[in-house]
Amino acid sequence: MCLFCDIIEGKIPSTKVYEDEKVLCFRDINPVAPTHVLVVPKKHFDDIIDISKADDGAEYLGAVSKAIAKVAEIDGLGNGFRVINNCGEDGGQTVKHVHFHVIGGVKLTEKMI
Ligand code: 5GP
Ligand code: ZN
Repeated sequence: MCLFCDIIEGKIPSTKVYEDEKVLCFRDINPVAPTHVLVVPKKHFDDIIDISKADDGAEYLGAVSKAIAKVAEIDGLGNGFRVINNCGEDGGQTVKHVHFHVIGGVKLTEKMI
């Protein structure tokens, strides 16, 4: 069982922002900024390493990039935003289904890099 697979299948409700054939984008349940959207491939990959090894991984990552642009357009993030992927234990990943946080709607100051 995977939490995000259940959200993708509609078994658990979410606030959808955008979806296409390959990607679902929904609002994070615990937002850290006015916009905090999770961009999630509809096919289960554990993390960025897993998707990088898959034959169809590049297709899904291409769809992810388009979906990020759509989310930015929908939420009016023309002045900028941040995309974060947490990977594995040391990266602080808590849901083991690869996803990208799109964060914005405010001037982001807490820069690590
Ligand atoms: P990670 O820590 O793996 O990078 O990110 C997981 C994210 O999923 C967290 O920001 C957390 O708030 C979010 N999250 C966890 N459970 C749910 C849920 O049931 N619904 C939604 N919309 N977000 C969730
Ligand atoms: Zn999953």
